[in-house]
Amino acid sequence: MTSCAKCGACSVVCPVYRITGQEAHTARGKIHLTQIPELPGKGVAFEDIFSKCLLCGACSAVCPRGIDVCREVVQARSAFPAVYGAHGYKKYLARKALAHPELLAPLRVLGRAGADFVSRYLPEESGLRLRLALFKQEVEEAPAQQDAVVSAGPPQKEMLTFFPGCTGRYLFPEIVTSCQFVAASLGHALHVPDGLSCCGLAALSAGDKREAQNCARKNITILEQSSGPVLISCASCYAHLRRYRELFEDDSVWRIRAETLVARLVELSCFLDRHLPQGRANQESGKKLRVYYHDPCHFRYGLEGMKIVTEPRKVLGRNPDLELLELPGGPECCGQGGLFHIGAPEISLLIRDALAAKVLALAPDVITSTCSGCLMQWRLAIEASGMPVKVLHLAELLRAVTK
Ligand code: SF4
Ligand code: SF4
Repeated sequence: MTSCAKCGACSVVCPVYRITGQEAHTARGKIHLTQIPELPGKGVAFEDIFSKCLLCGACSAVCPRGIDVCREVVQARSAFPAVYGAHGYKKYLARKALAHPELLAPLRVLGRAGADFVSRYLPEESGLRLRLALFKQEVEEAPAQQDAVVSAGPPQKEMLTFFPGCTGRYLFPEIVTSCQFVAASLGHALHVPDGLSCCGLAALSAGDKREAQNCARKNITILEQSSGPVLISCASCYAHLRRYRELFEDDSVWRIRAETLVARLVELSCFLDRHLPQGRANQESGKKLRVYYHDPCHFRYGLEGMKIVTEPRKVLGRNPDLELLELPGGPECCGQGGLFHIGAPEISLLIRDALAAKVLALAPDVITSTCSGCLMQWRLAIEASGMPVKVLHLAELLRAVTK
C-alpha cells in the first residue's frame, strides 16, 4: 500500500468523522491502525473502529496518495470473525438474508404487516426497527401483468438483459416495472434472468470475499447465457459488478469471465441519457415538480468510469415539467452505507437527518436516486420528518411524469 502522508485531507470529507470527531474513524486513523503489527485483526475495539466506515470513498477521492481506503477497510474486516462490531449479529443476519434474496419478498410482507407490533418491543436505536419501519410506507404493488407494461411502447427493437438487484426484484418490484415501462417507451424489452444472486456487495463490505465470489460466480454464469448489454437499475449493484474483476485477481479463468461481463454492463441513467429524447411539457398549469436528485456515493466518487453525476441530471433536465434542485454546498452522503445503517444506527441517523434537513429546506416534491439503499434511507428520513415528499427511483419518477 502507498504510504499515508498524514495530510488530513480525508478527515475533512469523512461523514463519520464529522459526527464522531474521533481520529480513529478517519481514513488516516484506520490506515495508521492497520500498520501497527500487533493490532490488525485483534480486539473488539479494533473491529468496532473498522465497522464504523460507510465505504463511501470520499476519502480516496481527495487523497493525494491515491490510497484505496475502501479496499484497506474491507481487507481489515476480512480478518474479523463472522459477527463483529456493534449490532454485528444483525448485520450478519442481513447478509445471510441477501445470500438468499428470495426470502426478501416474504420479509417485505411480514415487515409491512408486523412493523407496528414488533417495533414497539425494539429499542429506539435498533437497526431492525429502522428496517421494519421501512415497510410501513405504502408502496405500489407490482402490476400483475408485467408483460402488458413491456408491450405498451412502440415495437421493441432489442431485448436487454436486466439486473434489478435484490431490492428491486424482491422488495420494491415497482422499480422493475417502472424500468420496463421506460425501456418499452424507447422500444426495448427487459428480461430478468432466473436465478440471479445478490450482487455480493454486502458480503464483500463485511470482509467475506469467499461469499462475494460465490455471488459473483452465480451471476456471471447466469448472465453469460445471454448476449448484449446488461442494464442495471441500482447504483450499488452496478458499482459492485464493475469490480467483479478485482474479486478474481488470483483466478485467471474467472477474471476473464468477469471482464467479459463488465464490458457488457450499462447503468440505467447512462442508458437513458443516450436514448431518452427531449420531453414535452404536460402540466397545463405550467407548475413544475420540484425534484432533488440524490447522488449515490458510488457514483460521486467512482473511479474507472463509475463517476456518474451528469447523466441523471441531464435525463431529468429533459423533462420540462421537472425543476431540478441542488444543495448550495453540493451533494452529501445519506448515511445508509449498505449495512452501516444497521451496524451504526445512531451515526447513520445523525448523518441522514442532517442531510434531510438541508434537502427539505429546498421544498422538494420528490426525492429521487438510482441507489436502492439510498432510497430506503430517504424513505425513512421522509417518514420521520412527516413531510409530504415522495421518494421515487429515477425510473419510477420518469414513469409517473410520462403521459
Ligand atoms: S470511506 Fe467514507 S466513511 Fe470510510 S473513512 Fe473514508 S470517508 Fe470516512
Ligand atoms: S488523504 Fe490520504 S494521505 Fe492524506 S491523511 Fe488521508 S489517507 Fe493519508
